[in-house]
Amino acid sequence: MTEALQTKRAEINDMLVVSLQGDITEDSHIEGLKENLKPIVVFDLKEVKRINSYGIRQWINVMKEIHSKVRQIVFHRCPSVMVEQFNMINNFGGGGIVYSVYLPYYCEKCGKSDTKLYSLPGGATPEEMPTLPTYPCAHCSQALTFNDIEDEYFYFLQHQKTRSVPMNVVEHLAKQS
Ligand SMILES: [Zn+2]
Repeated sequence: MTEALQTKRAEINDMLVVSLQGDITEDSHIEGLKENLKPIVVFDLKEVKRINSYGIRQWINVMKEIHSKVRQIVFHRCPSVMVEQFNMINNFGGGGIVYSVYLPYYCEKCGKSDTKLYSLPGGATPEEMPTLPTYPCAHCSQALTFNDIEDEYFYFLQHQKTRSVPMNVVEHLAKQS
């Protein structure tokens, strides 16, 4: 079942924050994302549920085009389905930078899953691969297990080496994450 894509826009000075919710497929009409831009465009991807191969191709083209019109694209709160694409496809962000991703965890004892947000420290891509933080389970306090391949999950950082997110963006996003 496809969940239609919904977008919400918020403008803060020279920044446009676009929140996406649902699936990115041939039915999503993401070309509309190219309209009425600001110099900095932040895509909040927290509620993206799925992206299919058509959606991936179209996403890359739309992001490239947006990137050619603005100063910076920033990706915020990327769920695993989007992190996978950023990891696999060098130009998935069209030249934008990933600021924060959700880390998938689960508890072996309770069988419950959980996600934790990882953001670039100070908005800058770290030179070394980050070590995975450990968290206790909210229900039983046992240490959560990472629910993906640890060595591969941060691979997207290789695609954005030495780059960083503008400080005003970091400050704004830190408030709401
Ligand atoms: Zn537990």
